[in-house]
Amino acid sequence: MDLRYGFDIKRYIRTIPDYPKKGVQFRDITTLMSDPHGFRASIDELMWPFLAMEIDYVVGIEARGFILGGAVAHELGRGFIPIRKKGKLPFKTIGKDYSLEYGVDRVEMHSDAIKKGDKILLIDDLIATGGTAVAATELLHDSGAEIVAAAFIVDLPDLGGSKKLRDKNIKVHTLVQFEGD
Ligand code: AMP
Repeated sequence: MDLRYGFDIKRYIRTIPDYPKKGVQFRDITTLMSDPHGFRASIDELMWPFLAMEIDYVVGIEARGFILGGAVAHELGRGFIPIRKKGKLPFKTIGKDYSLEYGVDRVEMHSDAIKKGDKILLIDDLIATGGTAVAATELLHDSGAEIVAAAFIVDLPDLGGSKKLRDKNIKVHTLVQFEGD
């Protein structure tokens, strides 16, 4: 059992087999977030290492990264910046394409959201292959940001995403791990 602040985060994450397609074990954090202790323990643990660190903005990746990143930004007393899927942001954007198993996707951010040298904490719910998070970090680097760390509730280490980020010298903070995919 993995107890954190007396709360077992992992036990509150629901696993849905074969969603969205056969063979995938979907790690559903909605059951963790809907529990008041679960949500607070997750936010506390996500932000804990960064409490005394210099951070200018918390950046969240659409969509579950908005829920978690918004709460972390509020608790740290910092602003929040969204990274969204293609075509969702209203102002001028910069973007980064990344490969999916079939095809290509794109993440975008407002072009004026970040100034050179801004220190960023990047947040999402889960890191799997790392495609999304690596594209987000490239987008942030293109804007001149300094990435203090990337933090996720769930790591799927067998899919290699957290290692990809660490190999790029990005600090990675995760709360629970699940074997396999
Ligand atoms: P990836 O780009 O492969 O690291 O995938 C990360 C994104 O896809 C995150 O935003 C997750 O919300 C979602 N995701 C990927 N795999 C899973 C999974 N097994 N369970 C839940 N969400 C997943």
